[in-house]
Amino acid sequence: MSVSNYSRILTAVDFSAHSEHLIARAIQLRDLCGARLSLLHVVEYLPMAYSGDLVLPEGFDLEQELLDVASRQMATLGERLGVADSDRYVEIGNTGHTILRVAAELDADLILVGSHGRHGLATLLGSTARSVLNGAHCDVLAIRVPEG
Ligand code: AMP
Repeated sequence: MSVSNYSRILTAVDFSAHSEHLIARAIQLRDLCGARLSLLHVVEYLPMAYSGDLVLPEGFDLEQELLDVASRQMATLGERLGVADSDRYVEIGNTGHTILRVAAELDADLILVGSHGRHGLATLLGSTARSVLNGAHCDVLAIRVPEG
């Protein structure tokens, strides 16, 4: 398959500083292939992880707060990249599973994720990239990102 055949690219973004490398590659591929680019951020909300010593004001909805913050970040990124609102996704759940689910729903033919090289070859891929590679039904491009 020629790279110019990609028509539906899903890029998983975590909004960290290093994801600029991933984003630059996504834009390059979108333009090269004339593909439709979708952006996905997953809010991995684990109520247990936020309990314990954390005292929240009554009525404060932490899950909604996290979604709101992520949606604002997604809006800023989408506008900067010229990605339409309808191609921006902010979902809640397990990151790897959610990337795979959204990719299947969109019928994506390429998923872009970042990967780190900090621990040598054995763990070249981070946990997210690994789980996406293991479960994907389409091509996955793991973009090497420097440590942020
Ligand atoms: P990690 O393996 O968790 O260090 O993340 C590597 C890559 O997985 C990132 O560069 C993103 O492409 C993707 N990723 C990680 N966390 C998220 C998230 N919360 N939402 C969307 N993509 C993510």
